[in-house]
Amino acid sequence: MNLIKNYDLTQSNTLGLASKAECFAAFSSIEQCQALILAAHNQGLKLKVLGGGSNLILAPKISGLVIQSDMQDFTLHKQSDEFSWVWVDAGVNWHNWVNKSIEFGHGLENLALIPGTVGAAPVQNIGAYGVEVAEFIEQIELIDFKEAHIQTLSNEDCQFAYRDSAFKQNFKDKAVITRVLFKLPRAFKPKLDYAPLSELKPQAEARELNAQALIAKVCEIRNSKLPDPKHIANAGSFFKNPIISSSQLEALKEQYPNIPHYSYGHYASDDEQHFKVAAGWLIEQCGFKGKWHGKVGMYEKQALVMVARQGAAAQDIQSLSQKIISQVQQSFQIQLEVEPQLFN
Ligand code: FAD
Ligand code: NAP
Repeated sequence: MNLIKNYDLTQSNTLGLASKAECFAAFSSIEQCQALILAAHNQGLKLKVLGGGSNLILAPKISGLVIQSDMQDFTLHKQSDEFSWVWVDAGVNWHNWVNKSIEFGHGLENLALIPGTVGAAPVQNIGAYGVEVAEFIEQIELIDFKEAHIQTLSNEDCQFAYRDSAFKQNFKDKAVITRVLFKLPRAFKPKLDYAPLSELKPQAEARELNAQALIAKVCEIRNSKLPDPKHIANAGSFFKNPIISSSQLEALKEQYPNIPHYSYGHYASDDEQHFKVAAGWLIEQCGFKGKWHGKVGMYEKQALVMVARQGAAAQDIQSLSQKIISQVQQSFQIQLEVEPQLFN
């Protein structure tokens, strides 16, 4: 466990942004992680946690100590007729865990091929094709940065919401997740509501669909539509899909009858029904799809994904992001929110 000074993170983020950390260290045990936290205290360094760097905008210089989990274990905790409970270390690659999870139970298949690590999955409550990881998390083990103590949080403590959790709010930069306890139903009940997966419904009804085939289908759809960061630098969806009220939606429909929207239920604070609007469509209507603005642009097959060329910097990304936010605000009176977090 070495503290490396002036560590180059350019290869450690999927946007390929040139970036150096004042100090960097990977840990492969709880004790090493605690020792790093104490070392940071002693040297007056602030702590930041890096996973696979697939949901971050890295600043050119990152002050403090960047830590990364290299813990890679799976432990079957217990099993009942209905469920398996499995602890998975934060450093495990997410897609590898999805492939492995079907040996224990089900539910994670729709989340196949999402880049990154298990430790980061709860941070933004990763979701795809109608499934959110929060549905399958029972507990989270973390080490807090103040005392370097191990704590366990329940699902409720994590305050999971749409692409959000306590780890983006109260716990932000205050703790490192070391492992996650998944509770997986042992029966395979595929969720096929999203249009691209619905063609599997007849197979599922005939009980001819298995978990491997569902994972393969999700991978096929994603590969056909989303850029692989190994070939085209990106951080996935750049904006969250906005949630608007039914009255706002009705007003927009007068001008844009085809605006894609999905029911999002009610908020406790008011009685009005709310709708999720596809941010990619809003961005496309504003003319950004497939267009480059210097070294950054919006992907030709999905306008929600910002792509970057070699040499792009956080500043280029922020400048295009601002242009899009103000154009969408002007055209639709909707405020877009950036999904990847700034790492500085
Ligand atoms: P990082 O980007 O390294 O970190 C993200 C945040 O989590 C940071 O704030 C970091 O400090 C924090 N963090 C990381 N590890 C820990 C830890 N152990 N403890 C505490 N905090 C930690 N997201 C979706 O929700 N659904 C998708 O379908 C999806 N598809 C994507 C497709 C592509 C091509 C790409 C590039 C991204 C996609 N994403 C998607 C976004 C991203 O993959 C996920 O958010 C993923 O969980 C990020 O994991 P990471 O390990 O790369 O985290
Ligand atoms: P898509 O299928 O083109 O759909 C566009 C948007 O419409 C999605 O963002 C999705 O919202 C919403 N949507 C579609 N069908 C829906 C339904 N039946 N019910 C409710 N909402 C519906 O999206 P895509 O870009 O190809 O992505 C496919 C899935 O992978 C999506 O779930 C997306 O979130 C996920 N993904 C996420 C990221 C990321 O970085 N966060 C990157 C790539 C893909 P939701 O986004 O809320 O699902």
